[in-house]
Amino acid sequence: MSNLEWKIGAVRVIRIEESVAPVPVAGLFPEATPAQLAPHRAWLQPHFADAEDNLLLSIHGLVVESQGRTILVDTCIGENPAPDIPMDMGDSPFLENLEAAGFTREAIDIVLCTHLHFDHVGWNTMHVDGKLVPTFPNARYLFARQEWEHWNAAPDRGFAATFRETVETIVDAGLADIVDWNHVLTDEVRLEPTPGHTPGHVAVHIASGGQRAMITGDLTHHPVQWAEPDWKMGADSDSAAAAATRRRLLGEHLDGDLLVIGTHYAPPTAGKLVSRGDRVRFDVD
Ligand SMILES: [Zn+2]
Repeated sequence: MSNLEWKIGAVRVIRIEESVAPVPVAGLFPEATPAQLAPHRAWLQPHFADAEDNLLLSIHGLVVESQGRTILVDTCIGENPAPDIPMDMGDSPFLENLEAAGFTREAIDIVLCTHLHFDHVGWNTMHVDGKLVPTFPNARYLFARQEWEHWNAAPDRGFAATFRETVETIVDAGLADIVDWNHVLTDEVRLEPTPGHTPGHVAVHIASGGQRAMITGDLTHHPVQWAEPDWKMGADSDSAAAAATRRRLLGEHLDGDLLVIGTHYAPPTAGKLVSRGDRVRFDVD
């Protein structure tokens, strides 16, 4: 499998796939119907929706190379699926795909989790001889303070059900850094607070050589949400705040130069936010 990659000035971003699967519209957006997809179908197909109006959902991590640092943004489901959430992705090929892209586990300097839901933290840890250990032994793992404090105190962890296995294990190993949600990783890479999906959710903003990109995390799950920013996503903790975050970003970047790299977008995964008449579309050309 060849990996998608992008250059943003001097920064290189490489997509490392775990899975891509079709999901019925209501599986992501409980109040939306296939009929509501119709105005967007022309640009959603074939990359982001199939011929039966299923939405395509990708799970992948993104390696960001900046100023000598190798940063892994989100670590998929891996060996730590959430027990009560029916997302059976089978055996995860993520580590094999990471290695095929030229990165050993030891080469990762920083692991950054946009939020702590199970499909973003899974490969933080792995099983070795029946024991859970950090997958990336040389990395500092960054968790935004708001996010870590929220789930650490949450009586019901829901979509963060693997917190003990994937986050506490890292904290116990001394590899975690609890950081501000506007933390600067390098001169080119910083966190961007984007609350709503979860209370401490962050996107990743990249700026280099006059070019800009944003890794979305789950502020969107699918490109159609740029056209329909108010669609409620089933796993959002605060759907009004999530919609407000999307509308803020549309206000800042519609018809701008920002390359949007979607954390759950199927290939080609990256594009621009453009207006066509009174509608918005995600343009991959
Ligand atoms: Zn997710």
